[in-house]
Amino acid sequence: MNAIARLDHAHVWHPFTQMRDWLRTEPLVLVEGQGAVLRDIRGREYLDANSSIWTNLHGHNHPKINAAIRAQLGKVAHTSSLGFANEPASRLAAELVRISAPSRGGRSDSATPNDRQLNKVFFSDDGSTAVEVALKLAYECTRRTRGPNSRPRFLAIKGAYHGDTVGAVSLGHIDLFHRAYSGLLFRSDSVMAPYCYRCPFNRAKPERADARSYRRCNWECVGKVETTLAKAAKLRKPYAGFVFEPRMQGAAGMIPQPDGWLQRVTELGRAHGALLIADEVMTGFGRTGTAPVQGRGPRASSRLGAQSLFACQQEDVFPDFLCVAKGLTGGYLPMAATLTTDAVFGAFLGEYSEFKSFFHGHSFTGNQLGAAAALASLELLKPARGVTARRTLEATLRKGLDRLWELPQVGDIRQIGLVAGVELVRHWQTKEPFALEERAGIRACEAMAKRGVLTRPIGNVLVLMPPYCTTPQQLARMTDAMAESIAEVFPRSA
Ligand code: PMP
Repeated sequence: MNAIARLDHAHVWHPFTQMRDWLRTEPLVLVEGQGAVLRDIRGREYLDANSSIWTNLHGHNHPKINAAIRAQLGKVAHTSSLGFANEPASRLAAELVRISAPSRGGRSDSATPNDRQLNKVFFSDDGSTAVEVALKLAYECTRRTRGPNSRPRFLAIKGAYHGDTVGAVSLGHIDLFHRAYSGLLFRSDSVMAPYCYRCPFNRAKPERADARSYRRCNWECVGKVETTLAKAAKLRKPYAGFVFEPRMQGAAGMIPQPDGWLQRVTELGRAHGALLIADEVMTGFGRTGTAPVQGRGPRASSRLGAQSLFACQQEDVFPDFLCVAKGLTGGYLPMAATLTTDAVFGAFLGEYSEFKSFFHGHSFTGNQLGAAAALASLELLKPARGVTARRTLEATLRKGLDRLWELPQVGDIRQIGLVAGVELVRHWQTKEPFALEERAGIRACEAMAKRGVLTRPIGNVLVLMPPYCTTPQQLARMTDAMAESIAEVFPRSA
């Protein structure tokens, strides 16, 4: 074992990892990256097939992001946002406001687009803290409008994951992760996820590779949301906030929402007075594609090259809070942001002596290096040729994944934009899941790593989320490695 691996084994505790398993094998020590390729300490090369846990957008070692970080480093790395402004954070805030703007005339609800403008940006460090900020703001804003004795409650989606800080965990609904901390958490309610593949209301027959027969129902899942909201209203305990990952739930198992679902449930949430909290930590910055999906009305030409960089925009949904992290800096530095409206901001304005400030903040809030990297990353998203390249890559990924339908253990293949999840089951006809103890996803990913492709499963779901710079050849290697690995781990005779 090399010296670094020995140090790791001696001292580093890895996240979401059974360390007994970890200590059994020599870890991959990654030392370099270029584009979609990572290199380990022994000189072996791998494809970064999950963009380093969903963070990297443009590839590793990108000259423009490197240059932006270096240029900022030559000035100053960090100054505090407690008491001081700085240039990159101010510019970044303005840019985030610009790209999240609602389209003119895109909505048909009573709110005008201006009401929905996310005009204020609160910076933090990662996805969990971005959600935590939205949660605290929504909580306090509600208490200030509904009265100090109101106890704001929150609604989330089944299987939701919003991070690991205590507030974010309280909004989460993944039993395996969250059960252990139940004594620490506040209660949030959950509504049915539109998990069409395992939906009790879905009457579509499980056919192979036929996305058109994917969903046949009467939107019963939307009905469930409506019932939950109506019940809360009847009890005079309306929800203060409705938290959701738009278009695709990530850690829940890459669960895409059928077109129109988000618009329907958010309209219901808003009608019942809930603030809408969109967690775009995974979906933001073009991950879910750039093409308008469910447009009602003209799309904004003022946004980056008319593309919708946020999943919410693709469904013409304009939340009160937008949480971004992971890809914000192109995946280079830990930085996050929570965008909100002037109305929410206004609830915290007052005389000093009223103590209405938002009492929250972190040492590295508004970090100058992170903001410089983020500005460079946003710049890289702009050119039209990049948009076209991403659309082509999306189609290539879809085609590459298509051949996986041949494998009996592939139950479902779900893709939105450049995010894909492949759900493994004992046999596609029965949809029977593997028990977690069987480590089906982990074994498949280990076999992929042997083939030079790195990704991490979510239970029985294999994830592909390539950086945008991935070439069609590299993408083909990712999907080939996945197909071969599934076939190797689950031989047909087994
Ligand atoms: N929200 C979502 C949707 C996420 O996918 C994640 C991380 N996977 C988080 C929040 C938490 O982000 P972080 O790990 O950066 O705290």
